[in-house]
Amino acid sequence: MSKKKVAAIFTGGTISMKVDKRLSAAIPAMSSEEIMSLVTNIDKIAEIEIVPFARIPGPHMTPELMMELSKTVKETIARDDISGVIITHGTDSLEETAFFLDLNIQSDKPIIVVGSMRNASELGYDGPSNLSAAICTAVSDQARNKGVLVVLNNEVNSAREVTKTHTMSLDTFKSFSFGPLGIVDNDEVIFYRDIMSHGHILTENVESNVDIIKSVAGMDSKMINFCIQEGSKGIIIEAMGRGNLPPGMLDGIKNAVDKNIPVIIVSRCPMGRVLDSYGYEGGGKMIHDLGAIFGGDLNGQKARIKLMLALSTTQDMNEIKDIFESEYYKK
Ligand code: ASP
Repeated sequence: MSKKKVAAIFTGGTISMKVDKRLSAAIPAMSSEEIMSLVTNIDKIAEIEIVPFARIPGPHMTPELMMELSKTVKETIARDDISGVIITHGTDSLEETAFFLDLNIQSDKPIIVVGSMRNASELGYDGPSNLSAAICTAVSDQARNKGVLVVLNNEVNSAREVTKTHTMSLDTFKSFSFGPLGIVDNDEVIFYRDIMSHGHILTENVESNVDIIKSVAGMDSKMINFCIQEGSKGIIIEAMGRGNLPPGMLDGIKNAVDKNIPVIIVSRCPMGRVLDSYGYEGGGKMIHDLGAIFGGDLNGQKARIKLMLALSTTQDMNEIKDIFESEYYKK
C-alpha cells in the first residue's frame, strides 16, 4: 500500500532558528528542506510535501497572515492526494493561529500545528521529534474529525483548549481544564477523549482592529475609553475571577456598548468559565446587564481571535452574543 501524503507548511518559529554568532541570540535561519532533513526515517511513515509559507518568529504573526495561512491550508487539505497537513509555527503565538484555523476551516482531515521550544543550535533541539510526532498524528485515522490539533512533547491537544504555560519547558502546552486529548507513543497516536464540539466561523476576512485589556485592582475606564476613541471595533476584557470588574470600569463598558462596540468578558483565571454569579457593583451580573457578552472559558487571546472572525461576518450585537454565548450558556 502506498504511504499517505502529508503537506508540511512552514511558517517559522524557534523550530527554524539557530543562534546567530554576532547577536548571540536565536533568529530564523533554516530552510524548510533543511528542517525536514533532520527528521530521519520519516519516509517510513509518510510521503512529505514541503510548502514554504513564511520564516517568521511567533510574535511577527498577524491576523491577516493567519487568514492567508488559512487559505493555503484549505487549498492544500482539499486535494485528494493529501491525507493531512502539519504547520510549523513559533510557539509564542501558536495557540492563536491554531484556534484561528480551528474556527475557520471545516475539514475531517487532520490539521496539526507544531513547533519547538529549543532551536537547532541548542542541545536537545526538539524540532525533529515534534515534527515526527505531528506527522504520525497527521496520518492517523483517529485524528480525523478532531478540528485543529497542537502536537508538541508527544502530547496531542485541541487548538481550542491548549495554551502556552511555560517560557522554556518542553512540556509547555497544556489544556488546563481536561488535560490533553491524547499522546503520541511508539509512532502511534492514542486518544483518551474526544474534542468539545463547537461551531465554525467560515469567513474569508478578518477584522483585526480588536483590542484586549487585562483588569487589575483599582482600574478605571481609561483604557476602555482610549480603545473606543482610537476606533476599536471590539474589546476583550480579561475580568477577575468569575467575570467581575472594579466598578470604575463600568462607565467604559457602557460607553462601548452604546457605540455598538462589542465587549467580550473572559477571566484572567486560567481555568473555568465566566458567569453572572455576582450582583454587587462591577459584578458579572451588572456587566452582563449592561450589554457585555460572556466569552465562556476562552482565554483572552483566543476570545480576541474569535471576535476578529465574528466581526468580519456581522456587526449585529445579538448575533455576536449568540456566537459567543450559545456555546456555553444553553438553558
Ligand atoms: N519566540 C519563539 C517564536 O514564537 C518561540 C518559539 O517558537 O518557540 O517564534
